[in-house]
Amino acid sequence: MFEKLKQKISKKMDQWHPHWFSLQTRWMILTTTFLMVIFSAFGFLVYQNSIAALSQEAKQSVEQVTTQLSNELSRLNRVLTKKNATDAVRDAILSGYKSKSNEVENSLLSELGQHRLYVYVYDGREDLILKSRPGKYYKVSPLVQPLKFKRVNNIPGFIMGKKIISKKTGEILGYIQVYYELTDIYKIRNKLMTNIVIFIFIAFFLALFCSAIISSYFLKPIQEMIKTMKKIQEDPIAAERTPLPKQRDELRELTEISNTMIDQIQSYIERQGQFVQDASHELRTPVAVIEGHLNMLNRWGKDDPEILEESISASLQEIKRMKILVEEMLDLSRVDEMVLETVTEKTPIIETVKQVASNLQMIHPSFKFDYKNRLSEEKWVKIQRNHLEQLLIIFLDNAVKYSTNHKEVRIKISCDKSYVSISIQDFGEGIASEDIDRIFDRFYRVDKARSRSQGGNGLGLSIAKRLIDAYHGTLNVESTVGVGTEFIMIFPTVEPNDDFNK
Ligand code: ADP
Repeated sequence: MFEKLKQKISKKMDQWHPHWFSLQTRWMILTTTFLMVIFSAFGFLVYQNSIAALSQEAKQSVEQVTTQLSNELSRLNRVLTKKNATDAVRDAILSGYKSKSNEVENSLLSELGQHRLYVYVYDGREDLILKSRPGKYYKVSPLVQPLKFKRVNNIPGFIMGKKIISKKTGEILGYIQVYYELTDIYKIRNKLMTNIVIFIFIAFFLALFCSAIISSYFLKPIQEMIKTMKKIQEDPIAAERTPLPKQRDELRELTEISNTMIDQIQSYIERQGQFVQDASHELRTPVAVIEGHLNMLNRWGKDDPEILEESISASLQEIKRMKILVEEMLDLSRVDEMVLETVTEKTPIIETVKQVASNLQMIHPSFKFDYKNRLSEEKWVKIQRNHLEQLLIIFLDNAVKYSTNHKEVRIKISCDKSYVSISIQDFGEGIASEDIDRIFDRFYRVDKARSRSQGGNGLGLSIAKRLIDAYHGTLNVESTVGVGTEFIMIFPTVEPNDDFNK
């Protein structure tokens, strides 16, 4: 029974956990607590100061009345009795008025007017002979007291008492005791306290409400992003994107970045899928050719030396093609992973071009490799030498492959302040304008049969394009069908003594 309950509670807790500790809830708790602390501190300060000010006023009244009255009464030269007390006190009050005859005010009178202030006069034997107000009276002993807080009949107040000593004879004339009842101040205090508590209570809900609105306003783009991410998680190629917030702030930037990232990931997934499809399609032909030859051998060719010879050489040809294809595919994926910042090598342009051109000249002796250098001195590019060689081979090899009768390839090197350009021009079949944009796509060939007969896989130019992009270079093509084609590579140059190892 207990175990079941425990399980139920822990399940509920698990369900609630993400809610209670969500960013919004934490934000709300934090801001509300912060505001509550400020409000409470402020309320406490107002409360303390108001009470202190009121108490101070009461204290001053008691002190003033006691001192002033006892001073005035001490001018008398007869002891105070029930009979003369009223007159004596009245004279004392009026003498305060008379002594400042030019002014109309009498502060003692106004102090005595406060209905919570009580004045008691005693004779020399400490018996009460006059009280300022009717009603209940409690004697507070000793009669002589400094100003202090005291509860009289459980009612809080300030009390002060003095001996009245005649200034003339030095004889004790009587006693005066003044008491200020704090009931009103306590009432104000309680009311103030209730008001502050109510105010804090209302402020708590207001703060909670406001912080809920503000936090949901700020977190809306994040919630939207979570929604989009969840959809993408379910279906990685979904077209779902987070709507951009109107305000141009960090949240909008974050949304933009997240949308761009999804775009990039999806295009990467798409390219990968396409690549696998294309690659398997390309591999299918050589595999089918080899299978055909092996079947033929199996049936009839084992004893026929002619078929045997032909099938083996055809199969070897296809295997060679497959080998090249696999190598090119690997090159392509390596280029995709390449990061320019990790390259520390710089390669001399003239020297490399000369070397590659002379190698190709050797392989294709029937072709004329016309090399023109407009550079006065060697130029350097931040590129791995084998990559520059690979690029030159791709373009020169294509120029040879797609040349017709005019067997000439022109190589030109030129430069300006910070760029070097290498152009490779042939006078072959050319490329139609509608094909120009597509020749850099993987496995794209204008004439599949012709390219295949030349040993092409349609990967050379896409490797070249990616390599040039990776090295922050540019590639231009100019071509006219039946006239020829020119590929121009442009790279930023570096100084020969630049050191990229740092
Ligand atoms: P391939 O291995 O088929 O040569 P590439 O990627 O190098 O693949 O080239 C793609 C296609 O672009 C080629 O099949 C060809 O149709 C065309 N092409 C490339 N270079 C030239 C050129 N110099 N002249 C004419 N067509 C070319």
